[in-house]
Amino acid sequence: MPGRKLLKAVVLLSTLLTLTACQPIRPETEASHAGVRTLPHRPYSAKYDGIFVQTVEEVLNEGRSLLHVSYPVTEHEAVNLRMEGLAQSFIEDYRATAAAMEVSYQERSKEDSKEALSFVTRFSQSFEVKAANEEIILFSVERMMNAGGAETVEVDGFIFDRRSGAELAVPDLFADSHYLERLSELSRRELWKRTVLRLTEQSFASDSDRMEALEKSVRWIEEGTAPAAEFFDNILFQTDGTLLVKFDEDQVGSGEDGPVEVALSIGAFSDLLRPEFHQLLSPQLDDAEGAQEIALAGAAETPAAVTVTGPSEDEIDCSVVACVALTFDDGPSIYTESLLDILLSFNVKATFFVLGKSARIQPDTVLRMHREGHQVENHSWNHSNMTTLSDDVIRDQIERTNALIKQITGQESTLFRPPYGAYNEHLLAVTNMPFILWSVDPRDWRDRNAGIVVARVATAPAGAIILAHDIFRSTVDAMPTILSALQSRGVQFVSINKLLEPHIPISGHTYWRQSNPPTD
Ligand code: ZN
Repeated sequence: MPGRKLLKAVVLLSTLLTLTACQPIRPETEASHAGVRTLPHRPYSAKYDGIFVQTVEEVLNEGRSLLHVSYPVTEHEAVNLRMEGLAQSFIEDYRATAAAMEVSYQERSKEDSKEALSFVTRFSQSFEVKAANEEIILFSVERMMNAGGAETVEVDGFIFDRRSGAELAVPDLFADSHYLERLSELSRRELWKRTVLRLTEQSFASDSDRMEALEKSVRWIEEGTAPAAEFFDNILFQTDGTLLVKFDEDQVGSGEDGPVEVALSIGAFSDLLRPEFHQLLSPQLDDAEGAQEIALAGAAETPAAVTVTGPSEDEIDCSVVACVALTFDDGPSIYTESLLDILLSFNVKATFFVLGKSARIQPDTVLRMHREGHQVENHSWNHSNMTTLSDDVIRDQIERTNALIKQITGQESTLFRPPYGAYNEHLLAVTNMPFILWSVDPRDWRDRNAGIVVARVATAPAGAIILAHDIFRSTVDAMPTILSALQSRGVQFVSINKLLEPHIPISGHTYWRQSNPPTD
């Protein structure tokens, strides 16, 4: 928000002028910086004993270059040296910028004195005590740099051991190295969520282009957030109870929009903090308690809260009325949320055969499937042809996906749909789950046309298992027409488990449709 920044600069300037007017100027030793003043220490605040504010101001070039720097002074010389050194390098940057800007000003003022007025330099640095006790102190330092109207703002965090004066790094906050895994997992979750949103809004030539872009972004994020200290070396504590994790440009995506940051709840780390930090941050931890549950457990701790909307499936008897099971493969995708909206508005229950790799980046969507009464089942981790894989890889594909579904929904996946419908006796034996195939295939993956999909599904007979894919817009677009066409024939949409009742699917067996549907 450039307007706000400008306002800030103006406020700063007026503050500075007021100070110039009423404070005595201390003599400066260097003649070339005659405008420098170092103001006397003043206490930071009544809340924090023993912390003082040191302010330095400098006016150069007849007021075209202004500097205002505040930095903390504490009882510890080591802390002071570090913060003073930081301020000093900022002052040097300011002087270099001011000198360059002044050259431009002098040149331009010969031609256009009005335009020359924009060649000004405004640098300011302020700090805040984010938290402090006898053992530890956390500062944030904000620097604003404006050269000729182009403004940048930087905020950095500094942590010191108050007893030794030693500067602490992020790893020092935590009791063990698990914090890296936590940072990695929570950062990924947040960045993936953003990526899905961004790619939903962006236009692509085709769904496969979009999916390709998503996969590329997902991989980039995954690499840039691997649980290693080097990827999480810039973290700031904020007073709102969050940790601001800052990534370098290009670390988690192409740097078109500059460096990326995510704010994570401190509460999500409370079990990993060293005791002295736990105590120091306890006000923030209390505030963040609610957030912690969500952040830590995903949904695994709250699976009981299943919100089934509309009449439950228990009231439907598929041996009396015509039922079909709608199944959606290969998701979740950016279209799945709108599909869920449609299913909700028609009060239709479906079964989703999800890919582990996609469930991982859209866990909220998978949780919504579950909460809205749909069945969430396994379609492998990454859609490999399972008949070509070794037994170990087969088990990995199955178990990783099952574990993730359990983690997100709190419920075990009990059914498997083999990618491409490809299976053999060996795969059935190794997988050790019931295989759900289908009896109606609209080939929506080939014909990306809602009208064609409608025509092929709307005539589905009682007992059918209908195959569809929630990764295509055309399929989702076809759904309202399909649902109302079948519902107007009195057909009930049910989950796979309901359709196959009273049978409970058995491992190693295949299921294509309801075995004994009622006839009209
Ligand atoms: Zn598939």
